[in-house]
Amino acid sequence: MKMWINGKFEDSCSSEFFEVLNPATGEIVDTVPRGGREDVEAAVDAAAGAAGAWAATSPRNRAEVLHRAGGLVREWLDELAVLLTSEQGKPLAEAKNELLGFSGILEYYCGLASTLKGDFIQVPGNGYSFTLKNPLGVCAAIIPWNMPALIMGWKVGPALISGNTLVLKPASSTPLINLSLAALFGDAGLPPGVLNVVPGPGPVVGEAIAKHPGIKRLSFTGDTGTGKRVASLSASSLKRLTLELGGSDPMIVCEDADLEAAVDGALRGRFYNCGQTCTAVKRLYLQEKIADEFTAKLQKRVEGLRIGNGLSEGVDLGPLNSGKQRACVLNLLEEVRAKEEGTVLTGGRVPEGVEYAAGNFFEPTLITDVVPDSRLLREEVFGPLLPILRVRDLEEAIGEANRTKYGLGASVWTKDIDRIRAACEGLEAGTVWVNQHLKVAPELPFGGMKESGFGRENGGDALSEYLESKTVMVKT
Ligand code: NDP
Repeated sequence: MKMWINGKFEDSCSSEFFEVLNPATGEIVDTVPRGGREDVEAAVDAAAGAAGAWAATSPRNRAEVLHRAGGLVREWLDELAVLLTSEQGKPLAEAKNELLGFSGILEYYCGLASTLKGDFIQVPGNGYSFTLKNPLGVCAAIIPWNMPALIMGWKVGPALISGNTLVLKPASSTPLINLSLAALFGDAGLPPGVLNVVPGPGPVVGEAIAKHPGIKRLSFTGDTGTGKRVASLSASSLKRLTLELGGSDPMIVCEDADLEAAVDGALRGRFYNCGQTCTAVKRLYLQEKIADEFTAKLQKRVEGLRIGNGLSEGVDLGPLNSGKQRACVLNLLEEVRAKEEGTVLTGGRVPEGVEYAAGNFFEPTLITDVVPDSRLLREEVFGPLLPILRVRDLEEAIGEANRTKYGLGASVWTKDIDRIRAACEGLEAGTVWVNQHLKVAPELPFGGMKESGFGRENGGDALSEYLESKTVMVKT
């Protein structure tokens, strides 16, 4: 597959390529041009060239194009899901779910097209005043590999409906789904240059985007360290920024919770997408009274998860996305074992068998007796490891839950209204779930506190981040 610039597939200026591997088999899925700075220039030029006409297109007409694109994704769902699973690793059902989420986001923003308007404001004196809400122009997005379709939707939907044009850099291990979705926008009638996709190494293509003076706004999703670098590079051009960074979400289960529902929530919350979700349950806090029963129930469910190639029937857990990602998980677990920072209750190994030999598989793992300062609790663990901790009461749980630099999501499981209130007020997180975890909706603002970033995606909040107010005062 090639880069998508100015409404067509292009080679890179360098004529170099890189391979995209299937994480379940190690086979090459496809090759993609290795973009460089010149390709970013070409994409920004194309986006700048298309910006005036797209901004002048009425929101209703923009919505028609986005709606058609969402429809095409539904039409090609089976083929796109196979492609997404082949390069990302997740089970086919999760891939379909993610792609439907992509369509859902576009359709949600189509519905908001009619809300794009300024205000009429009266001030003292003769005359009248109003505000115009204008698009910013060329915007950019840098996205990761864990949810490449959904996160593309979070950026493309609000950027395009509000009349901006976009340059998107996909992650190097999952560029194929983003390139395919961009081409579907072309089929839906999106004018050339409005959406451009430049694959290539983060330190080259990503940094060229962050530094580019012609890009007015950048929305980045990825690691907190990379986010800090992107923020510093963007400062020279005073780009507007949204940073959706790492998370270490706590899940707190109180003694009065519906235990079956909470076990389900922990299982899905941690092991969905092989644990590679920014708002995955990364630390589980159980109140003493229910801790043994809960842990036993969860262990049984975890040991029943079927590991395998996401393209096969009945698989619950695919491989990690890359060898590098599995090495991070393995190294961390080795450190925990070597320093005696916790006890592996179940899992903790690379599964044996020929079907696992060439892939990046890892067993779903529960760890108990974790010491407070282990990296397992202090860093974002992007893989299928779940540390389980015991707490006396909710107050202690909230204190422990907040003892992290992250603040993306958190959940509390209880039927007690006072506990719900205390948790919602006390937990430092952009999203607090009650009796659920992980769910996101296009209507609801999503983003982090602390080192999980700033700015919001989704909902009306994201739309306003892609618009600029101009104040007009008329004297009569
Ligand atoms: P990165 O932050 O490195 O990658 C995310 C995106 O940023 C990719 O498109 C990447 O490109 C790009 N990028 C990398 N370096 C730069 C740079 N210097 N300037 C601009 N863009 C850059 O995350 P990783 O993929 O390396 O994952 C590492 C860790 O990050 C994970 O273990 C996890 O903890 C966390 N993470 C969190 C996510 C979240 O949603 N919260 C999502 C993904 C990762 P390329 O692919 O070419 O390197």
